[in-house]
Amino acid sequence: MRTHKIAAIGADGIGPEVIRAGLTVLEALAARDGGFRMEVESFPWSSDYYLAHGHYIPEGGLERLKQFDAIFFGAVGSQQVPDHVSLWGLRLPIAQGFDQYANVRPARVLPGVKSPLQNGAGIDWVIIRENSEGEYAGNGGRAHRGLPIEVGTEVAVFTRAGVERIHRFAFELAMKRPRRQLTLVTKSNAQRFGMVMWDEIFYEVAKDYPALKTDRELVDAVTTRMVLKPQTLDVIVATNLHADILSDLAAALSGSLGIAPTANLNPERQFPSMFEPIHGSAFDITGKGIANPVATFWTASMMLEHLGEADAAARLMRAIEAVTASGLHTPDLGGTATTEDVTRAVCEHIRQH
Ligand code: ATP
Ligand code: MG
Repeated sequence: MRTHKIAAIGADGIGPEVIRAGLTVLEALAARDGGFRMEVESFPWSSDYYLAHGHYIPEGGLERLKQFDAIFFGAVGSQQVPDHVSLWGLRLPIAQGFDQYANVRPARVLPGVKSPLQNGAGIDWVIIRENSEGEYAGNGGRAHRGLPIEVGTEVAVFTRAGVERIHRFAFELAMKRPRRQLTLVTKSNAQRFGMVMWDEIFYEVAKDYPALKTDRELVDAVTTRMVLKPQTLDVIVATNLHADILSDLAAALSGSLGIAPTANLNPERQFPSMFEPIHGSAFDITGKGIANPVATFWTASMMLEHLGEADAAARLMRAIEAVTASGLHTPDLGGTATTEDVTRAVCEHIRQH
């Protein structure tokens, strides 16, 4: 029997609630399938842990994580810790430490879910976010604090190697989709250095994929295209910052932040990849038992796919879609169901189909 070692990090807010729900569903799949089992270890790293210990990840923590096949992550962010401290304390050290440079974010309107767009049915996208450099490379500084000439810089750093590998990843992924279409998103009219390099490398890589249809948009223009002509887009590749913003828009257009999944991949599989819902810790609903677990279930399906369990991944997607289609919705989708109701229904569907 195949065994997959999963590190579970629920972290903050609704993170532990949705990760618990996700693990319940994964157990139901393993029991139903019979071909694989999971060894799950949960890590208590969170903002509460940081406030008690002074760090999010203890010494040797990344070394321990390295022994897992995948990391199943909830959300980080707390009202007691500045966001830049929590993000750089937990999520980014894992993503950067394990060179998870390809962030994959599918967006689609699930059956029974209402898009705020009339033509929302046209949404079937995968946004690929460069996840290791660019605007979030951590370069910049502050000078002359408090003086009239105070300066803050935020330097986006792009390397040829970093840009080329994300483009190659995007072309490979787009080739596997029926429409074989890839849109490059940059801002190379106003930003003349790194962004122009992005465009150039994209077209160099494109020569190796003559069967693929490509086009190019500026990041501001692509937001209008996402809203007005969603059916004309398929796979989008963009920088760390741009894709971060576009994927929140994509999540909202597909009905709720509570649905959208993401995978932080180390495609070469030297290190574990990390799977997490797009949403944050959602303090406003923490502890109420009403967090939508669908984003985490979809995330779990992406994790299974990555672990080579394509059948279980597909079975989970069918179960999710059957449950959303049935109208069993949490409040973010206009319903009254609880996290537990949705989890139970998905498990039931898995057992019976
Ligand atoms: P981050 O900075 O980590 O991206 P954020 O502050 O931007 O977080 P979220 O914590 O994701 O935002 O919350 C944004 C809104 O979406 C909140 O009103 C929250 O309740 C809602 N929301 C997020 N995730 C879910 C979910 N799984 N189920 C229901 N509502 C959710
Ligand atoms: Mg956010």
